[in-house]
Amino acid sequence: MKITAIAATVLALFAAVPANAAEEVNVYSYRQPFLIKPMFDAFERETGIKVNVVFANKGLVERLKNEGPNSPADLIFTVDIGRLSEVYEAGLTQPVTSDVLSAIIPPQYREPAGHWFGLTTRARLIYASKDRVAPGEITSYEDLADPKWAGRICTRSGNHVYQIALLASFIAHYGEEEAEKWLRGVKNNLARKPQGNDRNQVKAISEGVCDLSLGNNYYYALMLADEEQAAWADAANVIFPTLGNKGTHVNLSGIALTKSAPNSDNAIKLMEFLAGDLAQQMYAEQNHEYPINANVPWSGILKSLGTFEPDDMPLATVSTHRATAAKIVNRVGYDQ
Ligand code: FE
Repeated sequence: MKITAIAATVLALFAAVPANAAEEVNVYSYRQPFLIKPMFDAFERETGIKVNVVFANKGLVERLKNEGPNSPADLIFTVDIGRLSEVYEAGLTQPVTSDVLSAIIPPQYREPAGHWFGLTTRARLIYASKDRVAPGEITSYEDLADPKWAGRICTRSGNHVYQIALLASFIAHYGEEEAEKWLRGVKNNLARKPQGNDRNQVKAISEGVCDLSLGNNYYYALMLADEEQAAWADAANVIFPTLGNKGTHVNLSGIALTKSAPNSDNAIKLMEFLAGDLAQQMYAEQNHEYPINANVPWSGILKSLGTFEPDDMPLATVSTHRATAAKIVNRVGYDQ
């Protein structure tokens, strides 16, 4: 090739790449701005790569599907293995190989091929009335099906992703039949029809409607920080239940690289940054979730709740039982 031809090729290459393409990354986020904006700002300051974020409560996966290969999104940021798996199962992600991410994030908290990664964990706890449940009286999720709790349990809808993930975990440990038996037992113990969110169940405990509920750990801290809700949290002890004599069921907030990511190198840099010490510290303090990075200390309130053993069942395995879990919820008529 003559020198002029090489020069022309080089020029053509430069012309094809917009000047700023290497300096941005686009995120579709189900997580609220107050939680993640400070981390993105820190990333921008450190790298000069601009983070553009689309926030929404719902519809981002549909949007990603509709946009197809033309989607500007590089990363999807969400909570729950159900939602992470949904994006993956729809074929909207691509695998990421990163020594940084593999070193920080334990294997049970990422998709084996790298289609999604957990950034924080959240434990699903039992909230128990301080007045009506003695310390040590309940220690496992299995216990929730014990007839001694008849008329004393409140939960949100069995179809909510948090409940589906817990039931899927139960299936992973015990199989479908035992899981169904357990859920029937829990249903038989309900004080009222499933309704409201995790915090509403703790409110119900404070009002004497029920004595036990299920709720994620960070709601304890969020209730304490709220003038009205602090009294709800004060009425309850939190218990880290075991499942199958193993640890407490945990779920994730996490991130996935989209299949069509136009800025995949920058996106992986952002993923690695989010798993790093600085971002993990910010994340942990903001929402009282457990950092995925073992170097990073827990928030003060989480420390006060004490340490616990998380269930080490890989969440990718748990996730494969979600569809069966949803069927069980219907068969049992949990919400009826
Ligand atoms: Fe939540």
